[in-house]
Amino acid sequence: FPIIRAQNSPDFVPDAKFYKVEAILRPWRIQQVSSALLKMGIRGVTVSDVRGFGAQGGLTERQAGSEFSEDTFVAKVKMEIVVSKDQVEGVIAKIIEEARTGEIGDGKIFLTPISDVIRVRTGERGEKAERMMGGHADMSSALSTS
Ligand code: ATP
Ligand code: GLN
Repeated sequence: FPIIRAQNSPDFVPDAKFYKVEAILRPWRIQQVSSALLKMGIRGVTVSDVRGFGAQGGLTERQAGSEFSEDTFVAKVKMEIVVSKDQVEGVIAKIIEEARTGEIGDGKIFLTPISDVIRVRTGERGEKAERMMGGHADMSSALSTS
């Protein structure tokens, strides 16, 4: 029996060359995470200040009553990192290593397939656009040829 996965079902996960690693983390850990990523050649990172609630916000919420008021949202930083498929697990492991305290509120990581990458300056697409000079792939290939 062939398993048919409709595109409009959560069972359908498209395979992709690139993935977005989206991490919601404690603001005071961001410096440590980004310098560790830079050290491994992850040079493309976007960060935004966000606010959210999860298990940590829930604790505040219970004290505050049944309604979410604005101050139950906790300040977080969202890091978005698009990488090639083979770099996904390394990036996730590094984020966990640098961001984890073991306490509630350490955050979450979401993984999304990316259909294409386009470099505005050159119009390059796909792998050419995703690759960055001196990036993780360059560092790995320099290692294996020396
Ligand atoms: P160029 O080669 O023309 O300098 P680039 O491809 O290196 O372009 P930048 O202009 O350096 O891209 O990047 C612009 C912004 O895009 C960055 O500040 C960052 O926010 C975001 N960005 C770039 N690459 C990535 C990536 N792989 N993942 C997440 N964000 C990225
Ligand atoms: N995959 C890119 C490279 O190896 C790096 C992507 C990134 O820095 N986010 O050059």
